[in-house]
Amino acid sequence: MVSNAPARLTVLSGPSGVGKGTVVAEVRRRHPDVWVSVSATTRRPRPGEVDGVHYHFVEPAEFDRLIATDGLLEWAEYAGNRYGTPMAPVRERLAAGSPALLEIELQGARQVRARAPEAQLVFLAPPSWAELVSRLAGRGSEPAAVQEARLAIAQAELDAAGEFDVVVVNDDVARAADELVGLLTAPSPGLVPGE
Ligand code: ADP
Ligand code: 5GP
Repeated sequence: MVSNAPARLTVLSGPSGVGKGTVVAEVRRRHPDVWVSVSATTRRPRPGEVDGVHYHFVEPAEFDRLIATDGLLEWAEYAGNRYGTPMAPVRERLAAGSPALLEIELQGARQVRARAPEAQLVFLAPPSWAELVSRLAGRGSEPAAVQEARLAIAQAELDAAGEFDVVVVNDDVARAADELVGLLTAPSPGLVPGE
């Protein structure tokens, strides 16, 4: 069970539209005990997104304040908006001996690696480029110009897969969610006797 696992920080990253949000939602549905960090963002809410649940939606001045007070574990500008991981809840979670999951983009994943080298970095990859393009377009949440910007970033993000500890292919949501849950509780490779 997740609650008996050693505390571990896991970062899930991958290109926009690959299905990070979908896979994390599936993980939460099947395993309500998995704790997922709620990021702060200056982006406007999409229809159906709830403040404090999907994100903490903040004004730019509040985001500036979070940075200035070292309140963020990491943060990045992405497609014109800023996103960051509030530090205190992650600290509290790990201090209590429970795993924590972050769903963030590549620049943030690199900052976590620099700041917490023991963190496990998981890359969610699409089955193919064509499938990624079709998922991003199919979501229909952004205008075409924004989709283009996200696809340009996605191309660079796919090239970074080799920097991650594990690659999970999101061919099937339930399978990918299961694989991710297994990773949340797996012992760190460096701590396994005989490896
Ligand atoms: P991200 O959070 O990585 O930007 P989303 O979770 O919003 O991506 O998913 C993008 C789109 O792809 C959504 O329409 C979602 O329903 C769809 N999707 C996610 N995972 C799969 C999958 N395994 N197979 C088919 N479609 C998927
Ligand atoms: P979206 O606008 O689609 O919700 O998110 C855009 C991108 O920002 C996604 O790749 C998502 O993983 C990333 N993101 C969400 N929260 C954070 C965060 O706290 N930090 C960083 N660096 N990226 C984040």
